[in-house]
Amino acid sequence: MAAGLYFSPPACAEHDPGGDHPDRPARLAAIEARLAACGWAGFERRDAPPAERDVLLAVHAEDYVDRVRALAEGNGGSLAEDTLVGPGSYGAAAAAAGAACAMAEALAAGDARVAFCATRPPGHHARHDSTSGFCLFNTVAIAARRALDALGARRVFILDWDVHHGDGTHDVFRATDAVLFASIHQAGIFPGTGPLHDVGARAGAGFSINLPVPKHSFDDTWISLVEHIVVPAAEEFRPDLILVSAGYDAHAGDPHGDCLLAASSYAEMARHVRALGERTGAPVGAVLEGGYALEPLAESVCATMEALAGDKPPDSIAPDHVTARAASHIGHHWSL
Ligand SMILES: [Zn+2]
Repeated sequence: MAAGLYFSPPACAEHDPGGDHPDRPARLAAIEARLAACGWAGFERRDAPPAERDVLLAVHAEDYVDRVRALAEGNGGSLAEDTLVGPGSYGAAAAAAGAACAMAEALAAGDARVAFCATRPPGHHARHDSTSGFCLFNTVAIAARRALDALGARRVFILDWDVHHGDGTHDVFRATDAVLFASIHQAGIFPGTGPLHDVGARAGAGFSINLPVPKHSFDDTWISLVEHIVVPAAEEFRPDLILVSAGYDAHAGDPHGDCLLAASSYAEMARHVRALGERTGAPVGAVLEGGYALEPLAESVCATMEALAGDKPPDSIAPDHVTARAASHIGHHWSL
């Protein structure tokens, strides 16, 4: 069995918003240059067909899917501020969704325990019939829906560690108890959703865990939330599949967030998720979301894949360590 499976359809590079848009095709080239230098973390590359229209329609409204396609086939255009569609965009977004579905299928079939989709455009801001934040189709939601509808999964856990709240994913699954959605994100920035008290609705009440963190949050905050809040809740949920909306814009070097993570922080969060998968028997599939500083992005993806494929157990963040770091950050106001 391969250490993991890697999906990145060439069509994902064909989405080009142009100009100085942050979601450049160069993101994928940077990731693959880095992966080539680290032996692809032992992952096996797999091809995948683009998602068929009916697979997209399991999450998105027909009108919305047709609108994205019509814009791509026409002269291109804009779905929202900074969310642009060009000639290659429908193909790229359908390829991303297809890759994530193929990943879910391969994991469900037992081909590997872990997998990574280096796909773009990102997806987690895409809702049923609208979008924002560079996203076209909600890749991770489409994969989760596929696992529930066609692959025998009864429960899917999604952890979104992008610095922005995964409002699209949350919206798609906010009223179901078949998906546990947990998001750690910086408070007070785009898209402005995901307060702590938004715990889901109706049958999904209690199945959304929104964890906004202040700007300048260190990795001990993020990792501690993963270890002490997210993972215990997910373990109780007993998922059949674990998906990660893996954005890398909480990296200290990323211009789109003000958090202070490093590549090693993503590795540690990935180790906690991998250990959760081992304890629950659920495979782990990650899907790229944001992350716009090329070197930090590439280094962090590589670190994530190595951690998912490795056997190093996660460290425990002791509460006194968190308190000490918080105290040093807050300064003398904390002193007693
Ligand atoms: Zn983001």
